[in-house]
Amino acid sequence: MMISSGKIQRDNRGCPYSPEFSDIYASRDGAYQQARFVFLGGCGLPERWQGKDQFVILENGFGLGTNFLTVLRAWREDPQRCERLLYTAIEGFPLSAQDLERYCSVELKTEAKELAEKWPVLTPGVHQIFFDEGKVVLTLYFSEALQAAKQLACSFDAFFPDGFSPKKNPAMWQPKLLKSLAAHAREGSVLSTWCVASDVRRSFMESGFDVQKTVGFGHKSQMTVGRYAPRFSYRRAALPFDRPKRVPRSVLVIGAGLAGAAAAERLHARGLNVTIIDTSFVPAGGASAIRWGVAHAQPSADDNFLFRLSRSGLFMLQDTLKRYPGYSELNGLFQMARDVEELARWQHWFERGKPFHFPRTFLRLADTEEVLERLGYQPRFGGLMHGGAGIVSIATWVRERVNRLRTPVILNMRVDRLERQNGLWTAFDTFGAPIASAESAVLCAAHDSARLSGLPISLDQWKGRLTLLSPEATAGFEGAVTGPGYLIHAPDGWCGIGATYESADKQLEAAQAHSKNLSHMQGLFPQIPKAQGLGFYEGFRCVASDRRPVIGKVPHAEDLYMSCAMGSRGSVFCEIGARLIEAEMFGEPAPIEADLIKGLQPERLLSEEKNV
Ligand SMILES: Cc1cc2nc3c(=O)[nH]c(=O)nc-3n(C[C@H](O)[C@H](O)[C@H](O)COP(=O)(O)OP(=O)(O)OC[C@H]3O[C@@H](n4cnc5c(N)ncnc54)[C@H](O)[C@@H]3O)c2cc1C
Repeated sequence: MMISSGKIQRDNRGCPYSPEFSDIYASRDGAYQQARFVFLGGCGLPERWQGKDQFVILENGFGLGTNFLTVLRAWREDPQRCERLLYTAIEGFPLSAQDLERYCSVELKTEAKELAEKWPVLTPGVHQIFFDEGKVVLTLYFSEALQAAKQLACSFDAFFPDGFSPKKNPAMWQPKLLKSLAAHAREGSVLSTWCVASDVRRSFMESGFDVQKTVGFGHKSQMTVGRYAPRFSYRRAALPFDRPKRVPRSVLVIGAGLAGAAAAERLHARGLNVTIIDTSFVPAGGASAIRWGVAHAQPSADDNFLFRLSRSGLFMLQDTLKRYPGYSELNGLFQMARDVEELARWQHWFERGKPFHFPRTFLRLADTEEVLERLGYQPRFGGLMHGGAGIVSIATWVRERVNRLRTPVILNMRVDRLERQNGLWTAFDTFGAPIASAESAVLCAAHDSARLSGLPISLDQWKGRLTLLSPEATAGFEGAVTGPGYLIHAPDGWCGIGATYESADKQLEAAQAHSKNLSHMQGLFPQIPKAQGLGFYEGFRCVASDRRPVIGKVPHAEDLYMSCAMGSRGSVFCEIGARLIEAEMFGEPAPIEADLIKGLQPERLLSEEKNV
């Protein structure tokens, strides 16, 4: 998926203008006024959203965000506003935060500043921004429009088609795209646009909209409005996150590790009564007991599944950790090349701008001098600098998250089985006694989630050992570095190097495990001494056969979800699990693309089991 940064300047009449498309960003008669008249007015807003629990708007062509900011302001000013305003927008040429602020309409200066402050790093994919305590969610698809249309996982109440003019940018108005977007209409959905081109109107009509021309804004005599009223039953796009008939009011979260704490927090914030149950006598008693871990995206030359997923997860993690100061150091992480070939491969990505032109604040090359200056040790080869990545104090953060919820936490309690009766999930202990009940349940019990789900799937356990070192062993080294393995010298003095990857049938001797951990890092930094280990942190990573997390609704089980198999990347995957389950439960725009969602759902493992 490719995107280019948008370019903007003023034309000779002072209007924001795109040199790429030789067109102005909005009407010369006033961008804010146009947004109010054409998009809000044409869709019957704000009246149409009044009294609703949620209202979903889809816009094709975000540009300067004028329509979104106008909608945001109207929503804030409306005492009868819907509870949640969910605005999804597609943009293939996103502008910079500075440009959003510099070129916005004078009427929207305050809102534009707010947006610019939250504006994401310009990488392809989905980015979510939250306003007004999360009641307004802006979901941005930075992607070519047709690609984005295939990746939408939600239906809409109102549609704002708003690209540059069809003559200047025909791709934004092509029938294939408009039909693909219109296929996400709900019963009673409306659309409105300044464009009256006959091909455009035909596309809407062929998608089931009743379309009319009406009085236009400013110097345009006409505009188009439409209402979804299909005369035939249309083959609908697969919408995994369509509106549910009912949302559960309570949830059992089984497992209090990274995944469970994240899910519990999101669902608690949405008003569900949450009960957490865990076998351990303390939250973060499983794999999440690790004191510090690294968190970064996993880049690839072809922008593969893991890269897309891990960078989305990293952005979500950064966002969440803002509310937990002191539990992370996300101010950049070096990834050192293990040899010249790897370094050359990385350099090649940057020379060719592949898989996309990385914003420097996200990923750039780093030479050995920079690493020496920042970490205190000189690496053998240069590498990458992951901006916004770093280390997370995993166990203490998970415990803080659980504590802050002030919700029932039942510890020292193994869930032996789950049973659904009279619309409730009940968890039973090993003696067959009920522990707690709720209308829904989320399985965050790592590998035991497979058994509890009742699905015929299995998840593997891979042992990992991380050598604990005395701070003196790496004296002079400050911070963290990753590569084949990682080394962390944390601000609290904790020092760890690791980690091994041991299967059930291939366990290492302690001495072997230690020397393996050490040799990885000595391969990167020759001056790391042959230090004695103080001991190990050891845990079990839960891993699915395809190495992807397992996140989503359990098939054929009402209100049962799972978020597990986080492998070696629990910190970057846990928020994806929580936000995805929230979106699925409430039928809201998903935080990642549809193909990623599909690639995480438990179903995929069922077909695999059948094929064995
Ligand atoms: C050596 C090592 C190093 C690692 N380094 C990193 C790193 O640097 N960065 C990173 O992001 N990740 C790292 N990881 C991976 C990370 O620790 C995991 O991905 C993450 O902790 C998984 O979180 P989780 O919540 O899915 O599972 P867990 O933390 O294991 O939580 C599952 C919980 O479920 C409970 N449970 C299980 N069964 C039941 C049941 N039947 N009833 C009730 N409760 C139950 C368990 O007690 C446990 O608390 C590392 C892992 C290891 C082993």
